Amino acid sequence: MAGYTELPVFKCEMCGLCCKMSPISLLPHEVVVLEWLANKMNVKLEYAHGYIVYDALSGVNLAFSYVMQLNNGQCPFLEGNKCRVHNIYKPYICRSFPYIPKHVKYHIDDVNKYVMATTEYGLSLACNVVKKHKEILEKYWFRNNESPDKILQHYFKEGYLAAIEGDNIRSLLLTLLSKLWRDGLADIRQANHNAPVVNLYEYLRRFYPDLPNILGIDKITHRVRACLKTY
Ligand code: SF4
Ligand code: SF4
Repeated sequence: MAGYTELPVFKCEMCGLCCKMSPISLLPHEVVVLEWLANKMNVKLEYAHGYIVYDALSGVNLAFSYVMQLNNGQCPFLEGNKCRVHNIYKPYICRSFPYIPKHVKYHIDDVNKYVMATTEYGLSLACNVVKKHKEILEKYWFRNNESPDKILQHYFKEGYLAAIEGDNIRSLLLTLLSKLWRDGLADIRQANHNAPVVNLYEYLRRFYPDLPNILGIDKITHRVRACLKTY
């Protein structure tokens, strides 16, 4: 890419540090995929829900995100420095790391009945490779009229695209929920901490049976079957 002659391209050194740092954020459908995988691989998974809203029509909270907990200080899918789900299904946050969502903000519009999210991304300095490149990255970042998107496309295109894809899926799930709300099939309010919590993806599947196809979950299932033969 023209104008980026001095800027290196990110290359993961496979140190495994990012799999040991903190709980792993997941989109709702990723929990379903990883739970299924964990069962097949005999891996113990623990996760907690993140942001929730209440649907007063069905009487349940809907979880928009989850965090998978570390087990003995590391991701339960990490073996040595290798990710056991690398070739099967790797969560978006792992695919985009060290380009990560630093903050996801949800907006609920009661008047027009829609829910949306805005995500603020950044490069994580917890990764030694980014730390090494910090100075040169900053040099480009703060150049006049420089586009952070263009820098990222040069520096870490794969991670940048994974982040966009993850965000698009988040938006799709929220758009489908907003449509149910406008059609009178849901009534979204602030979280009700006395009600049970349901995975948003599982909830939406009742109304949109084709959702697994749309999200490519059927393809993942085939890949899982093929890969698990090697375990
Ligand atoms: S911390 Fe950085 S170098 Fe290490 S595995 Fe993660 S992305 Fe790769
Ligand atoms: S899923 Fe794989 S890449 Fe992601 S944190 Fe776990 S071991 Fe690391």
